Amino acid sequence: MSRLLIIGAGGVSQVATLKCIQTGAFSEIMLASRTLSKCDAIAALAKESIDTAQVDADKVPELVTLMKDFKPDIVLNVALPYQDLTIMDACLECGVHYVDTANYEPLDTARFEYKWQWDYQERFKKAGLFALLGSGFDPGVTNIFTSWALKHHFDEITELDIIDVNGGDHGQAFATNFNPEINIREVTAECRHWENGQFVETLAMSLKQEYTCPEGVGTFNIYRMYHEELESLTKHIPTIKKAQFWMSFSDNYLKHLEVLQNVGMTRIDEIEYQGQKIVPLQFLKAVLPNPGDLGKSSQGRTCIGNIIKGTKDGKEKSIYIYNICKHEACFEELGSQAISYTTGVPAAIGTALLAKGIWNGEGVFNMEELDPDPFMDMLVEFGLPWTVKEL
Ligand code: NDP
Repeated sequence: MSRLLIIGAGGVSQVATLKCIQTGAFSEIMLASRTLSKCDAIAALAKESIDTAQVDADKVPELVTLMKDFKPDIVLNVALPYQDLTIMDACLECGVHYVDTANYEPLDTARFEYKWQWDYQERFKKAGLFALLGSGFDPGVTNIFTSWALKHHFDEITELDIIDVNGGDHGQAFATNFNPEINIREVTAECRHWENGQFVETLAMSLKQEYTCPEGVGTFNIYRMYHEELESLTKHIPTIKKAQFWMSFSDNYLKHLEVLQNVGMTRIDEIEYQGQKIVPLQFLKAVLPNPGDLGKSSQGRTCIGNIIKGTKDGKEKSIYIYNICKHEACFEELGSQAISYTTGVPAAIGTALLAKGIWNGEGVFNMEELDPDPFMDMLVEFGLPWTVKEL
């Protein structure tokens, strides 16, 4: 049984921590974050006792001291993407395996690329350690849906559309479903999609279509945008000729976002305010609702899935694999909304598969490089059942 250190105590962490306990894969769990009281609040929800600690994960020496003291086998990073590299550095120094849910981003550039973390490949290999990148829903489950489809339904995949719909309502004038700073950086970035062997750049939110979700979830406007799994999936499944990512946004969300952008509140560079340096987007995050607190007011369902086209036995075919998750059910089970839930559950599953030795290896891995079958089974077991339809 493994010892697990979880870093970060926000909305995703609450679900990931409680689900890690449910998997029974860990002998001891410690939850550490910048604000100790948030760790204690999550620990108070747990049925088993877990340790808590304060750590600034931007500082490698602090992480190393904590790891040397707690001696984890695995670190699950559910803090922010800015901390990915410092936590990976500390893992290398202490001989600890690593899992996260989002690729590294430098604070001053909203550029989503795996290159910084893929650069750790040789160091993790040499240390005999395993780093699992992007074990959330998207990235995460969407990568697994694709590799599972390739394993069981296709000889070759040629087209991929990942569609992320939040058909729910949180009852707030404006709020984001996960960390507002990361969410707004992602949504306002230029769009990139994969076509004929290269990424094609277009203006953010410049392509939309209507999409009707299955099982009566509803019809929504979805917008094409860049998402990091496009980079790893097109690298690891090179037969993919076209890959696009789509996300639903309400007119209300887009209206607020446009105004915030126009008045400069989404800027990520430092400005001087009353003798102090502040980043407008970080200030905005401080005044927006905390996504982790939206569980109580959120209603409706999310529907996230992949439409995959390709060939099998010389014939063209396409399938749709998706999960539908209900906000109210997530709140009833773990006190969270569905976005935290759909990210926290796969984070716990990836970490548990590593702890049990079902997934193993040396180096830095994206989800699609590993056997999808045990992960797909655990999705059903731990609250995210999926459906596959031939189209
Ligand atoms: P939150 O903002 O709710 O939580 C982030 C947590 O990290 C907070 O507890 C915060 O502490 C802590 N933290 C931030 N900086 C540091 C630091 N320097 N040292 C220690 N702790 C720190 O975010 P979410 O829970 O919404 O998101 C967590 C992660 O999940 C993000 O990386 C996000 O991108 C990712 N994500 C992935 C998805 C996927 O499907 N793959 C979907 C949604 C999210 P404090 O409370 O003190 O600020």
